Amino acid sequence: MTTAMHEPERFRSPAYQAVLDDTAAPAHLLISADTLNQMRSEAESGYPLEICGLLIGKITNSDWHVSSIRAVANLNSERAADRFDLDPAGYQAIDRELRGSGSEIIGVYHSHPDCPARPSPTDLGSAWEGFAYPIISVCDSKAADIRCWCINDEGNRFTPVHIDSDNSL
Ligand SMILES: [Zn+2]
Repeated sequence: MTTAMHEPERFRSPAYQAVLDDTAAPAHLLISADTLNQMRSEAESGYPLEICGLLIGKITNSDWHVSSIRAVANLNSERAADRFDLDPAGYQAIDRELRGSGSEIIGVYHSHPDCPARPSPTDLGSAWEGFAYPIISVCDSKAADIRCWCINDEGNRFTPVHIDSDNSL
């Protein structure tokens, strides 16, 4: 990765370290390279604000199989990289629309402008078990890194999820 990475001091603080569990989750995020690129461009277009959206697809053998993504408004208009408020009305509309389709909402993605692709204590506070949480780090308006996370078995921290990405998915 040649893009300069930004890491504000708080990301090295005990409070931030405490939300991470280094044990990798056995399940993977399966996503096409095109969809992953779509996530990157949304994050770049939104810079320097945080963007967020939903992962649509299926969970099979505990892997998150993403078929598409849907941007949802971030109701938090401040720039803070550790805060986003996904529009609940947007969430509910998409959830309703998917009923009976065989696909469902399986995760939430958001960007971290000028911050690492690692979850914050605030992210942990709003995370749901069973969802996948990709975070796109955008540094100086360029997507620099994408990492995915989920809540660990103990339900108290984020654990890294491997991203499998190519266009056969
Ligand atoms: Zn975050």
